[in-house]
Amino acid sequence: MKKLLIASNNPDKIKEIKEILEENGVVLELVTPKDLGFTTEPDENGESFADNAYIKASYYHQLSGLPTIADDSGICIDYLGGKPGIHSARFLPEMTYPEKCSYIVEIMKDVTERGAQFVDCLCFIDENENVNYYEGKNAGAIAEEPAGDKGFGYDPIFLIPEFNKTEAELGEEYKNVYSHRAKALKKWIIDAKDRLQ
Ligand code: IMP
Repeated sequence: MKKLLIASNNPDKIKEIKEILEENGVVLELVTPKDLGFTTEPDENGESFADNAYIKASYYHQLSGLPTIADDSGICIDYLGGKPGIHSARFLPEMTYPEKCSYIVEIMKDVTERGAQFVDCLCFIDENENVNYYEGKNAGAIAEEPAGDKGFGYDPIFLIPEFNKTEAELGEEYKNVYSHRAKALKKWIIDAKDRLQ
């Protein structure tokens, strides 16, 4: 079975990526930097989701020589001018995620324009050094209060208007099909699956 390196050290993302690939019939041996004993990480100092996805994919591809997929993602909040965006993981670094979510709903308590997007850019580098990008976006709104205990990160405040529930309430049944990450991965699957199996 062919190996695919998932260039992430975020266990929540790795779990989602593995589930989405499995649910879409991708049969590959999925490995992570940790599985291969890599303890260093690249500096994510790019200016876009695509830049940072490439930085991660190329770093671990060079270390491993394996076909490598990296995901860079984040939440873009209209009221904050699209922030935290590519800085989502490093936004409010002194706070835990539940604290960040509470802080965001607090500063937005009187705001009516509550639109937000989750964005995911995947960078895939194959055995022949071909580099391809796949993007997924999901539009939603910032909830009035955090809700739900599934998912991770900003899921408790990302409201899906058609269900009036947050991603953390809807959980993997929703996220693995409709999330920004699921949309990007499905594009990758259509393009790359046959090159790998
Ligand atoms: P990075 O892609 O590793 O730079 O980190 C992306 C950050 O964006 C994560 O650490 C989360 O804070 C946030 N994020 C990305 N995708 C999701 C998601 O599916 N749910 C909740 N938060 C997310």
